[in-house]
Amino acid sequence: MGYPENPILVLVDVTPAGDAAPSTSALLGAASTIGSPIALVPGGAQSAVDAAAAAGAAVVLTAAVDDTQLIVPLVDALHTAYARVQPDAVLVSNSIVGRDVAGRLAVRTRGALSVDAIGVSRDDQGVVAHHSVYGGAYLVDSAPTYGAPIVTVRQGAVEARGEAVASPAVEELEVVGSGAAAATAGPVEAIEQESSRPELRGAARVVSGGRGLGSKEQFALVEQLADALGAAVGASRAAVDAGYIPYAHQVGQTGVSVSPQLYVALGISGAIQHRAGMQTAKTIVAINKDGEAPIFDIADFGIVGDVFTVVPQVIQALEARGK
Ligand SMILES: Cc1cc2nc3c(=O)[nH]c(=O)nc-3n(C[C@H](O)[C@H](O)[C@H](O)COP(=O)(O)OP(=O)(O)OC[C@H]3O[C@@H](n4cnc5c(N)ncnc54)[C@H](O)[C@@H]3O)c2cc1C
Repeated sequence: MGYPENPILVLVDVTPAGDAAPSTSALLGAASTIGSPIALVPGGAQSAVDAAAAAGAAVVLTAAVDDTQLIVPLVDALHTAYARVQPDAVLVSNSIVGRDVAGRLAVRTRGALSVDAIGVSRDDQGVVAHHSVYGGAYLVDSAPTYGAPIVTVRQGAVEARGEAVASPAVEELEVVGSGAAAATAGPVEAIEQESSRPELRGAARVVSGGRGLGSKEQFALVEQLADALGAAVGASRAAVDAGYIPYAHQVGQTGVSVSPQLYVALGISGAIQHRAGMQTAKTIVAINKDGEAPIFDIADFGIVGDVFTVVPQVIQALEARGK
């Protein structure tokens, strides 16, 4: 099969059930800004193929893999696609699995690896990845001097979206297992959590709470505002350490990095390690009773006040407006 010009190979992150993860549209959107997106859908589930086409992939490659969460079969499939397509760049989600796959592919292809990009562009020499580093204090670019870069893209960071393709060309890849050594995982137990809130990673809106909430019971205020805004719930490390909320909600250097459209920080001082995980949010709103708190240095809108006085009024106003 002939592939379109300037092919950008995208590894679609798939869930254990085989569906395309929410990162798909931003990955293919990013690819469409620098070339022609070609999606690789491990497992080849029709729902994931459809999602890739809806997100702008004119060509969708599928590969049979027994377990879409095992690293080596994914690398084998991506390596096969890479050899076939000869892309200008490979884009992979900066998820736990994605980072592992991208690193291994870079070793196999002797390609350059750019991690945690918040965007990509193209200049006359090729594809350039953009990164937010040192806790969001600097924006830097990375570009290889030879070969196609393999780029992991931060979830939620890219706004571009590709145009839906009505009838994509679908091609099944024949993948020969490399038999490469892999770490073996022990038994994994899936824990299902029922939540009507969006997942923190990749959420468009995030409301986070810090030590200023004072207790686990009072942290419910963060959840109430999140629900009023249809937002995911985040937290500072101090709030997690104090047991207000589980670690999975920690935002920052040693937690989750988020790039939502809206980030609301309640009772969070804005330590550099917290900022590292949220500074690339498009709009930051901070509510803190200390007018000197460093969070105000990066906030687009700030309210100096007690969260227990201000937030109920905000919720009331939102409810009155019907969001
Ligand atoms: C290696 C390392 C990694 C780290 N990783 C992370 C990380 O990933 N994420 C992270 O968040 N931190 C991380 N930290 C910790 C970080 O340095 C801070 O200690 C932490 O972010 C502080 O959390 P906080 O803002 O909730 O608490 P504090 O700094 O104690 O701030 C609480 C804020 O609440 C305000 N406040 C109090 N009561 C109210 C009220 N009623 N109404 C309004 N405002 C009120 C106070 O004015 C204050 O500004 C890390 C630290 C280290 C050393």
